[in-house]
Amino acid sequence: MPQAVAGPEIERLIQLLARMPGLGPRSARRAALQLIKKRETLLAPLADAMRIAADRIVVCQECGNVDTQDPCTICRDQSRDPSMLVVVEDVSDLWALERSGAVTARYHVLGGVLSALDGVRPENLNLGRLVERVSRPEMREVILALNATVDGQTTAHYVTELLTHLPIKVTRLAHGVPVGGELDYLDEGTLSAAIRQRTAF
Ligand code: ZN
Repeated sequence: MPQAVAGPEIERLIQLLARMPGLGPRSARRAALQLIKKRETLLAPLADAMRIAADRIVVCQECGNVDTQDPCTICRDQSRDPSMLVVVEDVSDLWALERSGAVTARYHVLGGVLSALDGVRPENLNLGRLVERVSRPEMREVILALNATVDGQTTAHYVTELLTHLPIKVTRLAHGVPVGGELDYLDEGTLSAAIRQRTAF
């Protein structure tokens, strides 16, 4: 453990920042210093925004997205195509697809993928609600926008089996998604091409 260079409050700030994805201890120190230098214009508003978010964030009971309202903003959006659902592993994938602007429908967040290694079983995923939603009479298509990892594809097969009795089309993203690729790391163009050129599962 390197010796502390600041009081415990600042050390705590650095330690918390260091837990953010993409920030190691060194970047966390840099970020903390920037926040401290910009106390009025950055640190205080950020602290306010975080407090408000921490108080108000809820999981959408309809789709599993996170928002400050339930149903979430996307589920409430009446302009979205009700005949289609885009199934994703995580909220980060939903955000990535929204950034691409290629999805005009609503989503369903599984909250993970099946994994023998990590002990993730079907009952750990948001699957019951998915079957319920896909069973609605207006539903025509489910797009499996799962990561091109082994676990993602195992999950895609499982979900397809689960929905096989329903009169809907199940499609998946085109192969523009690199094997082992995670949606969150793809650029918007690749993502929207993958949605447009989706193939029957
Ligand atoms: Zn929702």
